Amino acid sequence: MSIESNVRRILKELPPGVLLEAAAKGRSLEEVRGAIRAGVGIIGENYVQEAEPLVSAIGHTVKWHFIGHLQKNKVPQAVRIFDLVESVDSQELARTVDHHCARYEREMAVLVEINSGREKQKSGVMPEKAEELIRILATLRYIKVKGLMTLGPHFEDPELLRPYFAATRALWEELRSLSLERVELEYLSMGMTDSYRVAIEEGANLVRIGTGIFGPRDK
Ligand SMILES: *Cc1c(COP(=O)(O)O)cnc(C)c1O
Repeated sequence: MSIESNVRRILKELPPGVLLEAAAKGRSLEEVRGAIRAGVGIIGENYVQEAEPLVSAIGHTVKWHFIGHLQKNKVPQAVRIFDLVESVDSQELARTVDHHCARYEREMAVLVEINSGREKQKSGVMPEKAEELIRILATLRYIKVKGLMTLGPHFEDPELLRPYFAATRALWEELRSLSLERVELEYLSMGMTDSYRVAIEEGANLVRIGTGIFGPRDK
């Protein structure tokens, strides 16, 4: 299956209102261009240095989302190239992003990453700490909270992820009902190649798909 036919097939399958993001770690410029030709409008990148040449070549005809672990020393480059950071999980990181955005007087859209599995070694804020974090982010001049993101624990069977997706959706709804000022919880980013169908059933409106578009990594 070609990249373009994979994208078309997935786009046809997605219900209205669900956005497709191509998770492009380790993929070449030509592969990413193929996904865009077939209709992908959002590219997810895990590494700033890998994204830089792609953003230079392709430009902002598509949206660039950062979906990896953002190291503080990479924030200066990140704020220049990304449209949205999906993995904000601490006020320290958000304050660093805010500080660097101030230099360009540009806002950065962010999603708050939720550690829905409450796994010690995993990134993301604990679900019960999300409200407190979002209230702090809302005070930062150049940060615009746009939603939640979660990975969930790793399972072979995507059905096992369902309760984690459901809990993150419930948290998203609960936070939305607070109508916090300067906070627009528009996006709920959940689901990857093996789990996006379950994630959509549980309310995801942004799915991050790598393998299902580009084929297996480590070819
Ligand atoms: C790699 C990655 C994906 C996509 O994973 P696939 O299983 O290849 O679809 C989604 N989200 C994040 C954060 C990733 O790093």
